[in-house]
Amino acid sequence: MARTIAAGALLALGMAAGLAVVSWTGSGDTDAGDGEGRVTIVYEDDAIAPQDRRAVDALRKSGVLEKTADWVNTSVALPHDLVVKVTGKVPPGVTDAVTQPDGRTIYIPPRFLTQVQEVAGDVAKSVKRPALFPADKFNADDLAALSTRFIFGHELGHALQRQLQLPNLGLEEDAADGFASFHTVNEAGPDPSLAAAMIFDAIARAEGELTLEGLSSDHPVTQQRVFNFLCYLDGSDPKKFDGPLVGDGYLPKTRAPLCPQAWAMLDHGWWTQLQPHLREGFKAQGDQRQKEARARLIAETKAFEEKLDRIRTGR
Ligand SMILES: [Zn+2]
Repeated sequence: MARTIAAGALLALGMAAGLAVVSWTGSGDTDAGDGEGRVTIVYEDDAIAPQDRRAVDALRKSGVLEKTADWVNTSVALPHDLVVKVTGKVPPGVTDAVTQPDGRTIYIPPRFLTQVQEVAGDVAKSVKRPALFPADKFNADDLAALSTRFIFGHELGHALQRQLQLPNLGLEEDAADGFASFHTVNEAGPDPSLAAAMIFDAIARAEGELTLEGLSSDHPVTQQRVFNFLCYLDGSDPKKFDGPLVGDGYLPKTRAPLCPQAWAMLDHGWWTQLQPHLREGFKAQGDQRQKEARARLIAETKAFEEKLDRIRTGR
């Protein structure tokens, strides 16, 4: 299958971020905490190879990076500027979208966008469209843009964790995936999660057998990430998504009952983490969202407790 060509180089998907060594410059950092940091998207046109131009143009036209940047600029008081560079001029060894350890620069290599676009084209051609995913977006450009929105959400999750020095109770990579779900499900609906699930599923198939390297990665294995994306989406509105996701066989029945509480935890977790860092103009709305998320977590945990015996014995 031609699928291996594009997916091969995508396997790392952020693995090259150098996550093992996260260090802050610390002392002498006088602008820390001023809350005036902005996210800007920069397309370095002179550092985009001709063969990657099409993928970059399609992404730019979609405006997905800008939409996400706007949300941060409206909602979160960043201590430092965050520059998102779509550029071929990347640090040595960078092949995927990556966030620098200080959370102030995200690199998105044009070659990476071409690879996403190629996998997206392959998915549009060879995968049966899930009924939940809109027919008019089931094409290479839209699938690439939507999954890039999700992937950018992941990188932004890293940037927020690092700039705000958020307390983390698990692996940073899981939290970054969690932010991608939290942000896109709340702000853009189901399409980015679904597109990312289809792209990552294609990548997982191309990866083939699990290797020691894959299992020891700081990321969950790729196929597992697919189910995590679908689980959070399902849990965000099970009445709406159980039919097309669980009924149609995309999310296993064994996992689905755990998802409403998992989503409630994630939603409450991110709103609570972001709450002390909300911009003045967004504070009232953000506080309200946090309060609702907390009420929902309490309700979902209670509901989960009530059906737990049935879930355990029904497996
Ligand atoms: Zn990552």
